[in-house]
Amino acid sequence: MSSSADLSRLPPVHELLADPRLADLPRPVALAAARDAVDHARDALRAGRPLPDVAADAALRARDALRPRLRGVINATGIPIHTNLGRAPLSPAARAAVAEVAAGYSNVELELDTGKRGGRLDGVRAPLQQLCAAEDALAVNNNAAATLLVLTALARDREVVVSRGELVEIGGSFRVPEVVAAGGATLVEVGATNRTRVTDFAHATTERTALYLRVHPSNFRMEGFTERPDRAGLVALGRERGVPVVEDLGSGLIGRLGGGEALAAEHGEESVDEVLAAGVDLVCFSGDKLLGGPQAGIIAGRADLVAACRRHPLYRALRLDKLVLAALEATLLQYIRGDAADLPVHRMLAADPALLRRRAQALAREIPGARVEDDVGYSGGGALPARQLPTAVVVLPGDDPDALAAALRVGEPPVVARIARGAVRLDPRTVLPGEEDRLTAAVRAALAAPAGTRG
Ligand SMILES: *Cc1c(COP(=O)(O)O)cnc(C)c1O
Repeated sequence: MSSSADLSRLPPVHELLADPRLADLPRPVALAAARDAVDHARDALRAGRPLPDVAADAALRARDALRPRLRGVINATGIPIHTNLGRAPLSPAARAAVAEVAAGYSNVELELDTGKRGGRLDGVRAPLQQLCAAEDALAVNNNAAATLLVLTALARDREVVVSRGELVEIGGSFRVPEVVAAGGATLVEVGATNRTRVTDFAHATTERTALYLRVHPSNFRMEGFTERPDRAGLVALGRERGVPVVEDLGSGLIGRLGGGEALAAEHGEESVDEVLAAGVDLVCFSGDKLLGGPQAGIIAGRADLVAACRRHPLYRALRLDKLVLAALEATLLQYIRGDAADLPVHRMLAADPALLRRRAQALAREIPGARVEDDVGYSGGGALPARQLPTAVVVLPGDDPDALAAALRVGEPPVVARIARGAVRLDPRTVLPGEEDRLTAAVRAALAAPAGTRG
């Protein structure tokens, strides 16, 4: 079936480069696109398929290559803290802070009143101390970095005791045993998968023990015959043996201030200040999952331990850049001012199901064949514990939900939806105010696309 006669129908690359759709593009881009298009066409001919429009294909490939791969998408999954979709959308205040710092110079390491060199974290330290009721606090690139820094600065060449029930994996590349090893510490596993007691920690404690580590089981739940080492007991043991207790909270919520109380209670989560008040020496958590701010990792707690982290050379490699710092500071100030309930993620998590139903109905009116159904959504995927959230969704018509979801993803703008019970579902919870018209237009376009061209 493959013959040289077939392949001779392929246009030569130099001919494609002269095509008006490619001629004005940067030469290396046009060349790579033309070559890829010819390769693709050759494969088609060899497989006995018709010769595609090679020039049009090359132009599409060149257009894609010249466009950032990272783009805004409409999140119609209903999952507010969706790791694959960038977790938390920033508040207007945080966006404005980023824009200001991005566009010009800033005092990131300069004290304006004295003219002296300033600390990069000066603006986030005080709000974090206040919100977490912590002696001191530090911020780095993400919670994985925070955990790695804590282990490296406080436990290198020594032992870290962890319950076998908490050796969790969070999103593929973060696995507690591997992070402990990466920090140069030796993991001492105690207890059993389902049950670990404080006495297990006591028996495992030696003069080489640097830390007791507790890890929040962010993305799973154990039921049945289970026992987690009691925090108060572990704290008491730590005091007695002189071993700091560290908790990787991942999520959990900053509770006391800024309207987070209701949310924390609703999600059955403890707040950071409660954990520290219980005597835990150091906590670390995610700035996006827990605060609804930018990606960041916060370390808060005992001043001497935070200082040891700040002094360690690894801190320099994990430190925040000015754009994240601007967003984090603005987000923290929203908590301090008591405006945290306005943060996009908090609004989404707290959205009233009746309002969601009206929003779903308004969307459905613009989409032929769509209907509204009550459903349950989730707070986070692998982020906040997957809490169920009652919602109403737009159920799209069609009998090939995978193809429709794929067409939505490659549409303009890209739309990410949920597939359940044989249909594509749009959950208005995570559709931002003002996105509705673009969403319904993109959905109508995807529904109108002939099935063969989808995906
Ligand atoms: C999410 C999470 C992490 C990783 O946090 P990142 O901010 O994504 O680096 C670590 N530990 C726990 C318990 C988590 O939930």
